[in-house]
Amino acid sequence: LVDLTGKSCLVTGAASGIGRATATLLARLGARVLATDVNAAGLAALHRELAQTGLSTATADVTDPEDVRRAVATAVQRHGRLDVAVANAGVLPLSDVLETTPEDWDHVMAVDGKGMFLTCKYAIEAMRRTGGGAIVCVSSISGLAGQARQAAYGPAKFVASGLTVHLAVEWAAQGIRVNAVAPGTITTERVRALADEPGGPEYLTEMAAAHPLGRLGAPEEVARAIAFLASDAASFITGAVLPVDGGYLAR
Ligand code: NAD
Repeated sequence: LVDLTGKSCLVTGAASGIGRATATLLARLGARVLATDVNAAGLAALHRELAQTGLSTATADVTDPEDVRRAVATAVQRHGRLDVAVANAGVLPLSDVLETTPEDWDHVMAVDGKGMFLTCKYAIEAMRRTGGGAIVCVSSISGLAGQARQAAYGPAKFVASGLTVHLAVEWAAQGIRVNAVAPGTITTERVRALADEPGGPEYLTEMAAAHPLGRLGAPEEVARAIAFLASDAASFITGAVLPVDGGYLAR
């Protein structure tokens, strides 16, 4: 059902977590993947694992318009076109509004907000030249509902959900579908590291209990939803923000 054979795909933030799982799955489903990140060592490790699939990598900072433009151009140059962009790169700080400094706000908005805008912008510019494509933004349950201690991160994820619905309407007639996933709490490297931070273990226990399926999610479970939305199996789906959250938002 989900066949990505020969599709040219760009995945941002692919050195770890959800982005790494997604780049891996897309490559195994036959896509030609360009994996980008600021973490060159992480990209090199991913490349070692998946080089035989044709996956290639490029370092790119999603906050830098020139880097993002160049990453899209690289995918087009290597694969002849761009069919799929997964706007995934993000930082996930946990802080309440009193702890959050104006600099923290700017940083989160630069990566999770502007970074997602730039990835969509340059991907759409390439896709409209070849008659269409599919974008999947990685939003969050925090991009659809309020949570404590997400004073900058939560609003930044609302940007991801907002871009998805607005760009979906703006580009539907040009054959470009724009969707998002809204993961619940997922056991990525970043989330595992919370176990060693003040208040982290309590947060992880609370979050597991808050997901009706009774556990946290795995990066591969989010990757499967992203692969579906990116594929032609989702040909009549655009503007959707799909919870991948073990029932969290259904409560
Ligand atoms: P992660 O830290 O494991 O991976 C994020 C990746 O983004 C890293 O490889 C990092 O180097 C990269 N990155 C950071 N800043 C960047 C920049 N400026 N330019 C390019 N790459 C950059 O985190 P993750 O949990 O896999 O998060 C991936 C996405 O999933 C994020 O958008 C996050 O908001 C979203 N998300 C995560 C969870 C969760 O529980 N883990 C839940 C909902 C949504």
